Amino acid sequence: GRGIAVFTSGGDSQGMNAAVRSCVRMAIYLGCKVYFIREGYQGMVDGGDNIVEAQWASVSGIIHKGGTVIGSARCMEFKERPGRLKAAKNLIKNGISNLVIIGGDGSLTGANLFRQEWSSLLDELSSKGEITADQKMKFNHLNIVGLVGSIDNDFCGTDMTIGTDSALHRIVEAVDATTSTAFSHQRVFIIEVMGRHCGYLALISAICCEADYMFVPEEPPPDNWPELLCATLIQARNAGQRQNTIILSEGAIDRQGNPITGEMVKKVIVDAVELDTRVTVLGHIQRGGNPSAFDRILGCRMGAEAVIALMEAKPDADPVVVSLEGNQAVMLPLMKCVEKTKAVGQAMADKNWQMAIDLRGKS
Ligand code: ADP
Repeated sequence: GRGIAVFTSGGDSQGMNAAVRSCVRMAIYLGCKVYFIREGYQGMVDGGDNIVEAQWASVSGIIHKGGTVIGSARCMEFKERPGRLKAAKNLIKNGISNLVIIGGDGSLTGANLFRQEWSSLLDELSSKGEITADQKMKFNHLNIVGLVGSIDNDFCGTDMTIGTDSALHRIVEAVDATTSTAFSHQRVFIIEVMGRHCGYLALISAICCEADYMFVPEEPPPDNWPELLCATLIQARNAGQRQNTIILSEGAIDRQGNPITGEMVKKVIVDAVELDTRVTVLGHIQRGGNPSAFDRILGCRMGAEAVIALMEAKPDADPVVVSLEGNQAVMLPLMKCVEKTKAVGQAMADKNWQMAIDLRGKS
């Protein structure tokens, strides 16, 4: 049997459990031994009880749960070669030569590096006598498939990352709630949503919640935004609207690259037009709670595709990431997608907003 291990790494997101479940069951269905690695790369480095064989029933009753039941972590040790050496030894000890990693771009970058280093890690383990010559031969290939779990939808290559849809449900519900109380008191609500450097959650929730104004990192507002914003609010009030909603992406910036915060926006409104204004930061409620039907299905499909991709991979094939293109699951080269995602961040840092939008494309 070809041992497959599945683990979740970096920030959690809704739908990760569906992906874990489907990896495990597809692997068992195909006659493979399948393992959980708990606590992300930390569990791989530490080994021991963190690496356990999964059974069909081990993944019962998790599809409806948010977060990731096998744990996730940020792991400094894995960023250094000695940590990766320990991780390699633990995989071989458990007979694992295939990995399904569910995480964000950081986790996928780490996976790619691990794969590139694999044969030199084996050389080192073998020269130190930590693995046998037989093991070195048997495990000379490591195959890796990535799935993107993130609420931010900030990964180039896939239309939707696992967790985004659930986060949107959470945001829409929360904004609807503030809208009704804002109506009673004729207030303005500024709602800060997550997304790091990606404005997807802000853009979609602004449309869905009839926001009056929106701030996203990819398109910083003109320098006279305070006047434009206030004029928009007043226009809405004059047209009979009793409340206003402003959606602010946590990564929002002005054209000089300085952050735009909720308190800044509030001060502009209170000073200029004296409307009763409140700031609500949604925070981690966006990342928690039950996954939506869409994220459950997305996780299921991607998990199954990942295992199939591993079984079909040629030895030493470059790692792929399972992506959603339209309604199709497709395999894309992992590193190209990671590089493109990083280029978006760089374009934003260089204040080349249009280039960032072009690079990100559909996602
Ligand atoms: P995300 O996967 O959500 O983007 P991080 O960027 O925090 O989250 O990455 C999660 C973990 O992946 C890190 O704690 C580290 O263990 C590993 N990792 C990230 N980048 C690298 C890298 N360049 N080399 C090795 N490991 C990495």
